[in-house]
Amino acid sequence: MLIFVIVLTSCANNHDSKQLVEKPEEVAPPIQKEPEIYTATLSAIGDILIHEPIYQEAFIGDNQYSFSDMFAQVKPFLERADITIANSESIIGGQDIGLSSYPQFNSPYEVGDVLKEVGVDVVNMANNHTLDRGEQAILNATNYWNKLGITYIGASTSAKEAEQIKTLTVNQITFSFLGYTYGTNGLQVPEGKDYLVNYIDEEKIKVDIQKAKETSDIIVLNLHMGDEYSRTQNENQEKIAQLAADLGVHIILFHHSHVLQPVKWYTGKTGNQTFVIHSLGNFLSSQDEIYRQIGALLELDVKKTITYDKEGKTYTTVEINHPKLLPTYVEFQNWKNYKILPLYKVTEEQLPNAKILYSEIKTHMSQYVSNLHFIEDESK
Ligand SMILES: [Zn+2]
Repeated sequence: MLIFVIVLTSCANNHDSKQLVEKPEEVAPPIQKEPEIYTATLSAIGDILIHEPIYQEAFIGDNQYSFSDMFAQVKPFLERADITIANSESIIGGQDIGLSSYPQFNSPYEVGDVLKEVGVDVVNMANNHTLDRGEQAILNATNYWNKLGITYIGASTSAKEAEQIKTLTVNQITFSFLGYTYGTNGLQVPEGKDYLVNYIDEEKIKVDIQKAKETSDIIVLNLHMGDEYSRTQNENQEKIAQLAADLGVHIILFHHSHVLQPVKWYTGKTGNQTFVIHSLGNFLSSQDEIYRQIGALLELDVKKTITYDKEGKTYTTVEINHPKLLPTYVEFQNWKNYKILPLYKVTEEQLPNAKILYSEIKTHMSQYVSNLHFIEDESK
């Protein structure tokens, strides 16, 4: 390596020509490792909001419930990602404290079972219903998520836990998950138990993002806020998304509005790109206006590249690629026969003007991201 001979000659006058010959030297070649590339897929769904008719239908006797049939048609799409995250809007405080519906929800434990069954790995618990049934429901739910091996975020059972950043690692890529809500419907945490639920507080979010940066490659921020039933994001969502982009967050998942809101890339102050969905909508609920019956599964490819310089120093870069969306539709008749369906498969018999509606949803969701891909195949 590095063998060169430099010959300088003056062409004009051979007699005066000077020659500088650098002797070949034996130099040990530096070992430069090839770049390492790792990839993973992340998918996200919105609100799991279990109204009474849904758990009544799921009742199988003996204080037990099964939600599997409701998820059967979206399961192939849910289970294909390496990591799937959902918003557990109605807490799974379980049967022991009595189930309840709007306005203060409490859902059966088996809602957790079905999420496990379809491949959900992480649930956000920070939302306006976290305190609906008090501390006991939070303790029961966190216990059950632990039992299932599902990572919960946005609620904690101790001050110590609230300080921790929860992470998951797949294919050498470490993801951290953060979750916060705008409020809890006027309900207050018990005295001295602020850790029970994470509220949106810019200072706390900044501190947590800093900690997440130290322990992970990809930061996924869940924010429960926005105008209910509005199909577009509001200024506060844009402001906090920009702030998070400036702080280096990679993915922002908003939920709360119960209807879908568009996806968009935000550019952070170092030129970094942050992928944002302004609302994931309802994934399963009994809300019955058409846009409230439409939700989505978002899927993203994550790529991590480690490069080495000659000294063996490493440089890690991450990219979010190929955003894809599977719009979904919650079908039911007379508060019965609940099923989550891929919207592209819904027929005109199931829903009049389904095709026009699907096309309109695609246009609406991709208005800022023209290459947003719509999933219309279980294998792609
Ligand atoms: Zn909400």
